[in-house]
Amino acid sequence: MKIVLFGAPGAGKGTQAVRIAQKYSIPHISTGDIFRANMKEKTPIGIIAKTFIDRGQLVPDEATIQIVKERLEKEDCQNGFLLDGFPRTVAQAEALDTFSSVDVVINVEVPLDKLLERITGRRVCPKCRESYHIKFLSGVTTCAKCGTELVQRADDNAETVAERLEVYKKETSPIIDYYAKQGVLITVNGEGDIEDVFNSICEKLG
Ligand code: ADP
Ligand code: ZN
Repeated sequence: MKIVLFGAPGAGKGTQAVRIAQKYSIPHISTGDIFRANMKEKTPIGIIAKTFIDRGQLVPDEATIQIVKERLEKEDCQNGFLLDGFPRTVAQAEALDTFSSVDVVINVEVPLDKLLERITGRRVCPKCRESYHIKFLSGVTTCAKCGTELVQRADDNAETVAERLEVYKKETSPIIDYYAKQGVLITVNGEGDIEDVFNSICEKLG
């Protein structure tokens, strides 16, 4: 199955992506994770990406599209994949249509006023990618799944998040219409707890 997981920053895409990819045995492709890995290694694309990501802006389409195109050409994507964080502009969605089909787009919906608190309280496992919220960690600082010390992403601060939400509204949300018109969009309520959201995704995927 070729799946696009769509949602605003903080909607819980990453959390659900780990679970969906495992259930359907498909590779989880997160453009955010790819950029962060490149930033860590200080590759040319990582150095460019950092200047945008630190400001809460999108990495330019051309570079982003190229990275995804190359990733989807790999052998492990031939039977399906889960895209998390791509496409993020209509131009990216149009480009994706030229090099791959998409079976379903899952829109994880969370009211915009809930997102700021979700993101600024987020802590992530750098090893297995699991996400947590400080509200539920009650002082624990390590990953419940693999024991790795949790970190806060550099772009998860209030200032950068405000810009990311603006960018989402302006540049990313028009994609909803784009996929609705193609008849591949399904919408799930992202406000429940992790298991509830996962169950409604599974139900709708059938
Ligand atoms: P979130 O969904 O919480 O914003 P991601 O890890 O998906 O987090 O993305 C982090 C940042 O990486 C984004 O704010 C953006 O700057 C950059 N990025 C990720 N995916 C894309 C994309 N498809 N196009 C442009 N920039 C992207
Ligand atoms: Zn972990």
